[in-house]
Amino acid sequence: MNIKGLPKTLNICGFKYKIEYTTDTIKTDIFKRDSIYGQIDYVTRTMRIYIGDKKQLQKTEIINTILHEMIHGITTQNPLLEKMLGKDEELFTSTFALLLTDTLIRNNLINIK
Ligand SMILES: [Zn+2]
Repeated sequence: MNIKGLPKTLNICGFKYKIEYTTDTIKTDIFKRDSIYGQIDYVTRTMRIYIGDKKQLQKTEIINTILHEMIHGITTQNPLLEKMLGKDEELFTSTFALLLTDTLIRNNLINIK
């Protein structure tokens, strides 16, 4: 996957996160425990985003993962949101990231070419 046009950093609520793109779902997990597509690490302020290896992911999938991790970051920086979402935070994050990705792409606010 060509990462041209994808962000290298993301500022979330004033905190700058570096984005690392991976080609191995195990290496996407900082602890190498799970096979995952995205992870945000609040200590090192790093996001790791899987972009595919031999099988390339669609840019839409990668953008969805970036937005998913960004929403986790926003939620974590805001105790009220964290409290309101509680155990449903992952469900909310997945749903909202998908809706945001779709809306941004449908309105050409994100270039997926
Ligand atoms: Zn998540």
